[in-house]
Amino acid sequence: MRAVRFHKFGGPEKLQFEEAPNPKIGPTEVLVKVRACALNHLDIWARGGTRSERIPMPHISGSDISGEISEVGSLVIRHSIAERVLIAPGISCGICDYCSSGWDSLCESYRIIGYETQGGYAEYVAVPGTNVLPIPDKLSFEQAASVPLVFLTAWHMLVTRAGLVPGETVLVWAAGSGVGSAAVQVAKLLGAKVIATVGSESKREKAQKLGSDFVLNHHTQDIPNEVKRLTNGRKANVVFDHVGEATWEKSMKSMTPAGRLVNCGVTSGGRAQIDIRYIFVKQFSLMGSYMGGRGELLKVLSFFEDGMLKPVVDSVFPLMDAAKAQEKMEKSEHFGKIVLKV
Ligand SMILES: [Zn+2]
Repeated sequence: MRAVRFHKFGGPEKLQFEEAPNPKIGPTEVLVKVRACALNHLDIWARGGTRSERIPMPHISGSDISGEISEVGSLVIRHSIAERVLIAPGISCGICDYCSSGWDSLCESYRIIGYETQGGYAEYVAVPGTNVLPIPDKLSFEQAASVPLVFLTAWHMLVTRAGLVPGETVLVWAAGSGVGSAAVQVAKLLGAKVIATVGSESKREKAQKLGSDFVLNHHTQDIPNEVKRLTNGRKANVVFDHVGEATWEKSMKSMTPAGRLVNCGVTSGGRAQIDIRYIFVKQFSLMGSYMGGRGELLKVLSFFEDGMLKPVVDSVFPLMDAAKAQEKMEKSEHFGKIVLKV
């Protein structure tokens, strides 16, 4: 099959469009003919060698995959050839205490497809039959591929971790990113007021169209002051962060007393200073979040059937241009998901 692989860690030039062996399936797996695969920042970290010991080499990235089933393992039930599917990005044991209670991503054997296994920058991918889900009828392959990882992450962060409720205000950093564009929609679905930030004026209108009540430019505006002004001095109940170092201090200053900060990533770096006095006096909660459970993915997908949540596809590249697609992501030129068409 044709695939985009890297044999060494490094820049986008390490991505090679080449022939690779067809994946072989085990009895509990299905082979999926990939039709589309969306990019995630994870792909860039993997290529750069972050936690390199976890990455099988040569490596095929791609965690957000849609396609058609082309082969079914002998023990797989409920799936058949030619079914239109998307793939739940996390693999876990399914029986431990964490898996049994909906905390799949805390499972000791938890792995992300396309990061700790071979992924979807290829014509075919082998995945466990339990990870295959039907595509809501309304969605194209490109749209379906742009949903799983970011909407699962945003749902787990806002619903399960932060417990966002109607009437609360949430500050969403970098709403133009995949996870940011998902967060704005999930927060509106929950009945919250959304203050979103973007990094360029060209993204402002798009963030508004997604449902943001207010959009701020994090390069030109003083975010904590603006959040205070827009909330009549109350500030945000929840801060949705995936940026890390660059936003940390401003997040603290943007939160109301008893506010909750929920973080799922550190695209700007992972070091931050915490003044503990500030945490206990203000009674802040600082929460980590990593992917989410299969049940949460099923729940969030149900909102795509009636259009209450919508995939945000920024652009579509042919598979062979995966390096160009990653460069676009690294420059933050996108709004929503960048998708490879296979
Ligand atoms: Zn488990």
